[in-house]
Amino acid sequence: MGDLQRKVNDIEGVGAKRAEELARLGIHSIGDLLAHYPYRYDDYRLSKPAEAVHEEKATFRGVLYGEVSNRWYGKNKSRLTGRLEVEGVFIQVIWFNQAFLKTKLIPGKPIVVSGKWDAHRLQLTADRTMISPDEQEQQVGRLEPVYSVTEGLSVSWLRKTIYRAFVQFGKAIEEILPHELLKEYRLMPRSKAMYLLHFPKGKEEGRQARRRMVYEELFLYELKLLWHRRRQKQEEQGIVRSFDREKLQSFIDQLPFPLTIAQERVVQEILTDFSSHERMNRLLQGDVGSGKTVVAAICLYANYLAGFQGAMMVPTEILAEQHFRSLEPLLGAVGVRLISLTGRMTAKEKREALGQAQMGLADVVVGTHALIQDGVEFRSLGFVITDEQHRFGVKQRSLLREKGEAPDVLYMTATPIPRTLAISAYGDMDVSTIDELPAGRLPVETYWVKSGVWERVVEFIRKQCVSGRQAYVICPLIEESEKMDLANAYSVFESITQELAPIRVGLLHGKMPSGEKDEVMKSFEANEVQVLISTTVVEVGVNVPNASVMVIYDADRFGLAQLHQLRGRVGRGGGAATCILVADPRSETGVERMRVMTETTDGFEIARRDLELRGPGDYFGVKQSGIPDFKIADLITDFKVLEVARADATRLLNQEAFYEAPAYTWLRGYLDRFEKNQANFD
Ligand code: ADP
Ligand code: MG
Repeated sequence: MGDLQRKVNDIEGVGAKRAEELARLGIHSIGDLLAHYPYRYDDYRLSKPAEAVHEEKATFRGVLYGEVSNRWYGKNKSRLTGRLEVEGVFIQVIWFNQAFLKTKLIPGKPIVVSGKWDAHRLQLTADRTMISPDEQEQQVGRLEPVYSVTEGLSVSWLRKTIYRAFVQFGKAIEEILPHELLKEYRLMPRSKAMYLLHFPKGKEEGRQARRRMVYEELFLYELKLLWHRRRQKQEEQGIVRSFDREKLQSFIDQLPFPLTIAQERVVQEILTDFSSHERMNRLLQGDVGSGKTVVAAICLYANYLAGFQGAMMVPTEILAEQHFRSLEPLLGAVGVRLISLTGRMTAKEKREALGQAQMGLADVVVGTHALIQDGVEFRSLGFVITDEQHRFGVKQRSLLREKGEAPDVLYMTATPIPRTLAISAYGDMDVSTIDELPAGRLPVETYWVKSGVWERVVEFIRKQCVSGRQAYVICPLIEESEKMDLANAYSVFESITQELAPIRVGLLHGKMPSGEKDEVMKSFEANEVQVLISTTVVEVGVNVPNASVMVIYDADRFGLAQLHQLRGRVGRGGGAATCILVADPRSETGVERMRVMTETTDGFEIARRDLELRGPGDYFGVKQSGIPDFKIADLITDFKVLEVARADATRLLNQEAFYEAPAYTWLRGYLDRFEKNQANFD
């Protein structure tokens, strides 16, 4: 590759020391520097007093009329005042704490001042003053880029250096997008767009430059993603299963309920993958309570009928137990041998379970991460499901794919992912969505109350329990922490136990020994305990249909996704259910979360609002998200572009010409480079 690959040292005025400082910003090559875009612009386009907007930034060129006067306030504070004639209008200019300017502000000399404009008093508070003709020449009339810098580097040095780099090497920027796409979307050439992103003359120019580069960034990303997926599909031959469809159908027919249309559809999608030679890499998303477990059971059975073992991996022990208990009766009845494998089993139990998996004596293994730790061998693993997959890191995901003879993998999640994120973070997967709840479900009535009415909340819990239902009370912490002033599970447990007696109350928290956790959970499931005080260990997947009340203490401390998950624990058995958020939020975001929760029970809508409140990076936790850190694109505001770019990339990869024509040389090289260096791609 040409000049852009060269080190920054080749730019005039950049020595070893500067190069080192630039490296700290991740800038090594000239190309890196040219792509270090500003995060905002300061507007130095000239205006006139009559046109400038009150309370906004304005820049004037004028001539000083008379001396400026200075006043000191204490040791460090000063105020310069002067009169400036701007195209025949006299305005007042004030400089705070810039006494050093006094000797330079000479009457009769043209200067440029920029700052906040007060239209009523015809007064400008200057934060930038340009005195030398050179400086005026360089800055005035443009939008000045402002960059993130590091110690030792000033914004103005960086600005000059980037400008110089464009002069010296700008010609080396080649076009990389196919001509037909540039034409279709009327995108400006690459070199022009890169330059104008740094040095736009006006807002519209800057917008057009950004539009071009956003498209390019998203297009390249999608191209990479789709290419990766193609390669994966070509390289990995999946298992072509044939199974007894009649047996499968009669399994479905004898379920205690008919499948919803959405469930039927996703089952078909998964079964189609089963019988195809391509390896399945599918995300199954469905809101809490949409019935993913039964879909898992059906597919595990189909896989069993085809003669393969299956595995189901979940993030917590409790959930593993729970899944085991709900899958066992369904699958056991049709002869599937189910075992569980968790981290807490004794060495002997584990050995036994491992042996059964290895010898093929177990057909389905349900377990925690222990499942992917070393030493677990399957005789003929054909299908792996992970539940609540967003809790598994990218690394664990790929470990899983390496198990067995290229098993098909289904990732289930109850955290609905807005479409934008689904195709960006999981763009290399197929996505199935259960978008309806089983019939007859009532939305969970949700209230937000202040902690002052706690007694009424307890009364409400009592009434529900007396009528035979059960309640959860979720607390954010398990130990007293005076500092944060959070309710803690212990004291809530103690006071509720007293207040509600003789109603039985149980306590569950993350630091309990596993055996105890299980005991508590089982007695809650069996309705021996009517109220469960818990920290967030119940968050994912727990299923106690008789529970009708979910009280969340200090609810503003939880994220939206988590609140939605918690709420999903009730209303699972039909009948009315209530969620009470107890919170005295201190932040605007906290208030907004409470508002969202009381306004909607639609997981996708909540996910969308969550994304808006938090931004995509934070959505799943950056590390696990797999969401790339885009340089210019913003997934929230640019999602339409992402979709368009995805369609374009798909179309291009489907064209034979793409693999031959000279027009696509650069893009082919890009994909080659990407393939050789996939470290950043899992
Ligand atoms: P999730 O998608 O949150 O994992 P589950 O699979 O735990 O949801 O299902 C929630 C509840 O709905 C369970 O009690 C399950 O038996 C029930 N259920 C699942 N599918 C249906 C259906 N088609 N009709 C009625 N109830 C269903
Ligand atoms: Mg589930």
